[in-house]
Amino acid sequence: MSLSRRRIPVAAVVAAILSVPGIAGGQTRPTPGQDVAQSAAIGGVRYDVTFDRTTAPARSLHVAMTFDVTGQGPVLLSLPAWTPGAYEISNFARWVSSFAATSGARELRWDKLDHDTWRVRTDGARNVTVSFDFLADSLDNAIAWARGNFVFFNGTNIFLYPEGRPTEFAATVAVKTDPAWNVTTGMKPAGAARTYTAASFHDLVDMPFFVGEYDVDSAQIENTWVRMASWPKGSFQGAARTRFWEHQRKMFPPMIRIFGDKPFDTYTTLLVFDSTSGGGSALEHQNSHVGIYTPLIVESVLFPSITAHETVHAWNVKRLRPADLVPYRYGQPQPTTWLWVSEGITDYYADVVLARSGIIDSTGFVILTQGKIDEVSATPPVALEDASLSTWIHPTDGTGYIYYQKGSLAGLLLDILIRDASDNQKSLDDVFRELYQTTYKQRWTGFTAEQWWGAVSRAAGGKSFEDFATRYIDGREPFPYATVLPLAGLRLQLDTIREPRLGVSSTPDSNGVRVADVMPASAADSAGIQPGDYLLQVGDIMVRDPAFGEQFRQRYARAEGQRLPVKVRRGDRTLDLQVTVRLTPRVEQRLMIDSAASAKAIRIRNGILRG
Ligand SMILES: [Zn+2]
Repeated sequence: MSLSRRRIPVAAVVAAILSVPGIAGGQTRPTPGQDVAQSAAIGGVRYDVTFDRTTAPARSLHVAMTFDVTGQGPVLLSLPAWTPGAYEISNFARWVSSFAATSGARELRWDKLDHDTWRVRTDGARNVTVSFDFLADSLDNAIAWARGNFVFFNGTNIFLYPEGRPTEFAATVAVKTDPAWNVTTGMKPAGAARTYTAASFHDLVDMPFFVGEYDVDSAQIENTWVRMASWPKGSFQGAARTRFWEHQRKMFPPMIRIFGDKPFDTYTTLLVFDSTSGGGSALEHQNSHVGIYTPLIVESVLFPSITAHETVHAWNVKRLRPADLVPYRYGQPQPTTWLWVSEGITDYYADVVLARSGIIDSTGFVILTQGKIDEVSATPPVALEDASLSTWIHPTDGTGYIYYQKGSLAGLLLDILIRDASDNQKSLDDVFRELYQTTYKQRWTGFTAEQWWGAVSRAAGGKSFEDFATRYIDGREPFPYATVLPLAGLRLQLDTIREPRLGVSSTPDSNGVRVADVMPASAADSAGIQPGDYLLQVGDIMVRDPAFGEQFRQRYARAEGQRLPVKVRRGDRTLDLQVTVRLTPRVEQRLMIDSAASAKAIRIRNGILRG
């Protein structure tokens, strides 16, 4: 959800001169990962990408990079290891085969310098072409994926850059494909057909491509050409497509109002619908995003929600970005403690934009926020800064992507506190507008901690946020919902519910519903139920799927102390056991609109929801 990808699981649907001594002799290699090598200077860079009916069956992109050698020594060419926004190392060089280097009819010698760097011996050649095939078989919005009539790919996957040289080099891309097929990208068209230009490597690799047979159309919104391409052809039509365009028209104005300008001339949404995708995941770029979705998502609020999230990213992270991420370094991980702002608050603004555009009402906003509160409650306490840093290693304790939901809630709390301190004259919008203007528009640096908290404090009339940052951003303390939400006419009601619980966790497999774990001293434990048993019957409920637990809680809600027969299969025996119904307390938290809110709190709530 990538992320910044936002990932939503299916259950929720309803990214010269060698300075190394001795290397001129051709034998010594630097330690992989050391940034000590520098390529001969090159210029006049052009990439030709071929994908057509002949290469599609092999799911292969043919890539040829042509350039002039303007310096001395070998040319060192590297592929990125990751795609910005997808904060994980992928090593795109993995999918490269048939690498070759030529100058005219002459083959040039080459070898690998490290796992994603090729060293080409030019032997005096001034014009060089390197070529390779790239296997497009990853259904991942940071990588490349092909079908018989279609491919999407990211520039990071296939565009080589000269190692140790400035990334501010211009390049041309030409796509060679079937005459009847489409080519769609956020890149700027050059003079020739299906030819595009980029002013720097950063721009080049930030504009993914669709090539093949798919649906594409466009509309002008807010003086911007907005495009949408969807694959497979015919899969996203009728009312759902009409609704997408209605949502696009509604979403852009509130986004532009938040940041104070519109930083792109065109915006392109690239959609892949595939039932094996297992939910929804999208990846942002400076003037486009790629979404991979299950076809079921188009009926869900998650679809406009992810669309808004990725589009807000065109401002927040693609342009306004933490200093740790400026500039992007493609050859190595680039951890930052700020993904709670770049992802989390982007997600807060996705909800805010949906509300301000009328796509959801206040109840919808409450439901989306409640969902985030529940997800944070169900996750081990983790500091937002730590979760942000750790995402590169994919933690296994469930905290890996919680900076989305928890960061979003931190955004809500900060927005409320700023609005409360300024009597709704200032908001988090002002923080983003100020930082966008001072750290992106004037001089492209990222924002620092001092700049962020300085802007937050200024918006709140000088109020200090040191304590807030220490406890809730760098620290693991539970969020102060009880004191902050009422300032915006919202209330988190805590209800203690007593409900029957067996005290087992179960998983379905091909033999039935298997007991995975039994809580010590629970009703199930006292009854003699053991891990590995298959549950057949509990009381008068026939156990067919794990949803039996919900049936059990409803059916026996008032049956405290009652003894029920339980049938389990253990090995090849069927056992008849007896369980005593026990009611167990559980705290349910419900976010509500506060009907007794003060006039000020109502102004603040309306400020958030209406802008
Ligand atoms: Zn994101």
